[in-house]
Parts: sequence; C-alpha cells; structure tokens
Amino acid sequence: MSADSLPLRCVCGALQGALAAVAEPRTRGRCYCNDCRAYGVWLGRDDVLDAHGGTEVVQTWPSRVRLTAGVEQVRLMKLSPKGLHRWFAGCCRTPIANGFGPGRAPFLGLQARFVAPDARPRLDELFGAAHGVQGRFAPGGCPPGVHASASAGILWAATGMLVRGLWAGGHAPHPLFSPDGTPIATAEVLTAEARAALE
Ligand SMILES: [Zn+2]
Ligand SMILES: [Zn+2]
Repeated sequence: MSADSLPLRCVCGALQGALAAVAEPRTRGRCYCNDCRAYGVWLGRDDVLDAHGGTEVVQTWPSRVRLTAGVEQVRLMKLSPKGLHRWFAGCCRTPIANGFGPGRAPFLGLQARFVAPDARPRLDELFGAAHGVQGRFAPGGCPPGVHASASAGILWAATGMLVRGLWAGGHAPHPLFSPDGTPIATAEVLTAEARAALE
C-alpha cells in the first residue's frame, strides 16, 4: 500500500482495494435521497445509513480505484432497470460504489463505508468536509447543515472532476467492468414492488 493511496476494505475484510489519493478535483458528499436510503435499507446493514438516513460517497474517477483481493465477492444491483449501478460486497453486504454503465463517464461514487476504518480520518484531510445534499428527503426533515437539494459547491466540484476526467481518460481502467464493457457481476434489478417495499 503506497503512502499516497487509501486502503479499501469491506467489513469482513474479504474484498480489498485502494483509492489513489492524489490531488485533483474530487468531491465528498453525503446523500439523503430516497434511492440511496432505500439501497441502505436493502443492504440490511445498520452501519451504512447515518442517524438521518444519509450515506457518504467520495466522487472520483474509476481509474483511481483498484481492487486487490476478493474480487469474486463483488455484486451489482439496481433499484430499477434504468437506475444507477450500485456495487456491493456479497460477503458482508458492504456498499462499494455507485456509478454508471460502461462508457467514457469518468465517474464513480465510492462509498466511504468501503474505506478502511483506520484510513477514514484521512478523508477530511484529502477531500475536505462532506457536503450534505438532498436533505429535503430525510425522513425527519432536512438535517442541520445539509443542503435541501444539490449544493452549487458540489455541482461545481463534480463538473470540474468530470471535465478533467474526460481530458485525462479517468474512465479507464474501470475496476468493475471488463475492458469489453461487461460488468464483473451480473446485475440484480429490483422489481417495482420490491423497490416500493423499501420505503
Ligand atoms: Zn466482506
Ligand atoms: Zn442519493
């Protein structure tokens, strides 16, 4: 593990990887939207959602994330046929990352829960405080310090990250797709009924 990367590890330790921690535009967000909360409920871990039902992600480029052990544990689900790809570890249902299908989008929403606990303090140092967004969907009302919808700051930072990623080829290699664009796990897509049951 080099000094300029953060270790990634699922809760049981079977799936491991690394996030390159070099300086470039990235954003760190905490999302309170209905879909992210439903995903946390579906995973069934009580340590994924915060007290207000939010989950934290670091938005980065796929090329910045590597999986180094336990890749056979990777699973993929979608809340609906057109929903985000939501990747998790099948061994212990730790969320890994959210993202799009194969293509040139230099975007991956890496779940902070997948960052090894001893490395999480470095998230503050590297990425700054998380922007809370979509607070209007939190069950108890918008939590203190959280933006009701998306914040201008996070949109601006995410746009900068995407533009630089397109220029730099940050979409590849992708840790979760084969070079031919095939996902490394078969997607489980929830039915409308199963999705509704998570509310
Ligand atoms: Zn695990
Ligand atoms: Zn969300």
